[in-house]
Amino acid sequence: MSNTRIQSMGLAKAPISRLLFVLLCALATHFAWAAQPAATPQQHPAQAIVEQAAVAMRTDPESSRRDAEQALGILKRQPDADIEIRARLILCDYQSERDTAAAEEQITVIRSLLWQSRRAGLRAGMMDCEGQIAETAGNNDRAREFYESAVSIATEANDREMLAAALFSRGYLLGLQGQYAAGLNDLRRAQGIYDDLKLPQHALTAINGIAILYNRMGDYEQARHMYTQALKAQRDAGLLREQGVTLHNLGRAYENLKQWAAARTSFQGALDISRQLNYPRAEAYALRGLAAVENGLGNPKTALEILQRAQALQKDTPDARLEAQINLARGIALHQLKRLPEAVAALEEALQVFRQAASLSELRATYSELAVTYSEMGNWRAGFGFLDRASETAERQFRNQIDQRFATLKIEFDTLAKEKENALLTRENEANEKALAQERRASNLQFVVIVLTVVLAAVLFALALHQRRTSIRMHTLAMTDELTSVPNRRAVFARLEPVLSQSRVPASVLIIDIDHFKSINDQHGHAEGDSALKLVAAGLRDAVREPSFVGRLGGEEFIAVLPASDTAQACEVAESIRTQIMAIDSLPWLKDRKITVSIGVSTSVPGTDTPGTMLHRADAALYEAKRGGRNCVKVTQNGHASAKGSGKAEPDVGTGSIEYA
Ligand code: GH3
Ligand code: MG
Ligand code: MG
Repeated sequence: MSNTRIQSMGLAKAPISRLLFVLLCALATHFAWAAQPAATPQQHPAQAIVEQAAVAMRTDPESSRRDAEQALGILKRQPDADIEIRARLILCDYQSERDTAAAEEQITVIRSLLWQSRRAGLRAGMMDCEGQIAETAGNNDRAREFYESAVSIATEANDREMLAAALFSRGYLLGLQGQYAAGLNDLRRAQGIYDDLKLPQHALTAINGIAILYNRMGDYEQARHMYTQALKAQRDAGLLREQGVTLHNLGRAYENLKQWAAARTSFQGALDISRQLNYPRAEAYALRGLAAVENGLGNPKTALEILQRAQALQKDTPDARLEAQINLARGIALHQLKRLPEAVAALEEALQVFRQAASLSELRATYSELAVTYSEMGNWRAGFGFLDRASETAERQFRNQIDQRFATLKIEFDTLAKEKENALLTRENEANEKALAQERRASNLQFVVIVLTVVLAAVLFALALHQRRTSIRMHTLAMTDELTSVPNRRAVFARLEPVLSQSRVPASVLIIDIDHFKSINDQHGHAEGDSALKLVAAGLRDAVREPSFVGRLGGEEFIAVLPASDTAQACEVAESIRTQIMAIDSLPWLKDRKITVSIGVSTSVPGTDTPGTMLHRADAALYEAKRGGRNCVKVTQNGHASAKGSGKAEPDVGTGSIEYA
C-alpha cells in the first residue's frame, strides 16, 4: 500500500513540479530581463586620448595638442569621424591663437568629415573654432556671427558640451563688446552646464570669464574678488595655464584700480607660469602688463624695454588685440618720454584695432592719450577732436555700464526665478519618477503574487485530488475482504439494510459454508487453504448477477444477497451456486472428493425483517443443511426457526438437494 501511495504521490507531484519549474523559469526570466543592463559598445582606442586632450586644453595646451595628434595617428588606422572631428576641434582651438593657417586647415578637414558624423552638435564646435579664428584676427562681428550659429546648432542638437563651449565664446565676446548683461548670462549658463557635465576645469574657466566681464564693467573690486577665488581653486586643482591667465587678469584688475605693486606681483606671476609652459602669447600679455605698471609708476624707459620683448614674442602670434594693447602701452611710454610723433604713430596703430573690436575702455584710453599727445604737439584741432571722442566714449561706456548693471540685475533676478522654477520642475519630475518606479515595483510584485497564487492553487488542487483518491482507496479497503476481494461483512450489512427496508417485495439471503474446510488446512497448510478460499469466492462471484451480490462473512462462510427474490428463486440460485462450486477443480487439495458447500436460505417479510433476523434464520437453515449431511440447500421460512424440508439426509459427498419449507 505504501508503495502505491508513494507512486500516486509521485504521479500527482510530477505535473506540479513541472509547473513550478516553468513558472520559476518565467519569473527568473522576467526579473533577469528587467535587471539587464544596457549593452556597452566597445570603446574606440582613440576615444580616451581625445577626452584627455579635451581636459588638458584648459591646463596644458602643449600636451593637449600632442594627445590630439596621437589620436589622429590611431584614427588613420581605425577611422571614426566623430572622434576625429573632436581631435581636430582641439587642434583648431590650439592653433586659432597661434597659427591661423593651421587652424583653418583643421576647419577644412572637419568640414569634409561632418557628413559622416553621428553627432550633429559637432558642427557647432566647428563654428565655435571659426569664431575663435575671426576673433583672434580682430574681426569681432564675424566672430559673433559664428558664435550665434554655434549656439543655435548646439541647442537644436541638444549637445550640452558643444553648447557650453559656444555660450562661453559668445559670452566672452559680448563682454568685450560692452554687452555685459547678455555676456554674463551666457557665461553663467556655460558655467552651469560644465558643472552639470562634471567638467570642473571648464567651469572654472567660465568663472574666470565672468570675472573678466566684471572687470570690463568697471566693477574692478568684484572682478578682483572673483579672480582671487578662482586662483585659489586653480592652485588647488593644479591648473597651471589657468592660473597664468587668472594672474594676468588679476593684474588687469589691479592695473585698473591703479594698485601698481599688487599689479606687478600678479603680472610677474603670470609671466613665470607662461615661461614655465613655454607659452609665448601669454608671456607677451604678462610683459604688456608689467610695462603698464612701469608706465603707471612713471618709468617709461623700463616700460619700453619690456614692451620690446613683448613685441618680439607677439610677432609669432596672430593676436591683433594684443598687438594693439602693446602699441597703446608703447604710446603712453613714448608720450611720457616726449617722443611725441612716435607716440602718435603707436597710438594710431592701436586705434585701428580697438575701433574694429569696438572695445570701449581701450578705445577711451587710446583717445585720451592721443588727445593729450596731439595737444602737446601743438595740434590743438586733433587734440580737441580726440578729447571729444574720448569723453563721448567715456560717456557711452559709463551709460552702457549703468544700463548693463540694470540689465544684469534683471537677468540675475530672472535667472533666480528661472532656477526656482527649474528646481520646482525637477522636484516634480523626481516625484513623478518615484511614483512610476513604485508603480513598476507594485506591478512586479503583483505578478509575483499572481504566480504564487497560481502555484498555490495548483498545489492545493493536486493535494485535494490525492486526498480524494486516498479516501476512496481507504473506503474500498475498509469495505473489501483482503483475501478474496469480495465485500466484507461490514459492506454486506451496509448494502443489505436498504435492500430490506426500502423494498416492498421479498428479498432473500443465502449463507454459504464450505464443507469440511478444516481438512484442507490440515492436509495442505493455511496458505493452500487461502488459495481454495479465493477460488470459491471467485466461483460465487460468477454465479451471482447484479443486483444480487456476494460477500464474505468470515472464515469459510460467505453470503449472497438476492434483492426481489422469493424463496423459490432463491433456492434456484442456491442450487446453481452449489453446482458451480462442485465444478471447481479440487484436485490440488482433495483427491477423493469435490469441494462442496452447504447453503442456508432465508426470505424476508417486507417491512419486518432486518439484516440480523435474516442472517439468524439463514444460519438456522445452514445448521440444518450441515445436520442433513452437507452439500445441500435448506430453507427457513418467515421467522420459523425450524427448517421445513424433505428431511432427506444425503451423504457427505454426492449430489446435494433442496429442502423446501
Ligand atoms: P463443517 O463442514 O462443519 O463446516 O466443517 P469445517 O471444517 O468446514 O468447519 P470448522 O468450523 O470445523 O472449521 C473451519 C475451519 O476454517 C477452521 C479454520 O482453520 C478455517 N479457516 C477460517 N478462516 C480461514 C482463512 O482465512 N484461511 C484458511 N486457510 N482457513 C481458515
Ligand atoms: Mg463454518
Ligand atoms: Mg465449514
